[in-house]
Amino acid sequence: MNLVVADLEGVFLPEIWINVAQKTGIEELKLTTRDISDYDVLMTRRLAILKENNLKIQDIQEVIAGLDPLPGAAGILDWIRSQTQIIILSDTFEEFARPLMAKLKFPTLLCHNLTIDASGNITDYNIRIENQKAMAVKALKNLNYRVIAFGDSYNDIGMIQEADQGFFFTPPETVVQEFPEIPVTRDYDQLKTMIASLLKNEI
Ligand SMILES: [Mg+2]
Repeated sequence: MNLVVADLEGVFLPEIWINVAQKTGIEELKLTTRDISDYDVLMTRRLAILKENNLKIQDIQEVIAGLDPLPGAAGILDWIRSQTQIIILSDTFEEFARPLMAKLKFPTLLCHNLTIDASGNITDYNIRIENQKAMAVKALKNLNYRVIAFGDSYNDIGMIQEADQGFFFTPPETVVQEFPEIPVTRDYDQLKTMIASLLKNEI
């Protein structure tokens, strides 16, 4: 039996931190896993910037509430769910993603969470388990699923390599060059064709 796992930001949603950077005017918040491959370094820096600028969870949620999924995202998710099952594996946080999940009709989402104090300051972030995307794929394979995985960035490499079939969706060129063996799709039409063909080739 097949099961699809996919990344969230850059695939179905815009990059949340880039939008927070635009809204707040803090350029350095534009850094993502596309720029810094070490997630711990990236998140520690982001939380320090929020603190320096006295930005609270309410400020971030205000930005997120104004975001929409990428054009066509809800439709392609509907299509995937009509063909097979999909689980979203994201390195975002429940507190950020929740308001946007309604706009994607509540797909199953496995991610992390934040520690927030009584005033709304984000004091820490909690990684549910290290390397969760690849670990989830491994666990699903142990349940005898044939796993198809796709994502756009560095933090998707582990799950793409662990999956039975894996590919990129709209990756930056630096990532494509670093991992030339991983197939690439560049829009939802190509994504649909790729998934349809992988599902058809089930062994
Ligand atoms: Mg992504």
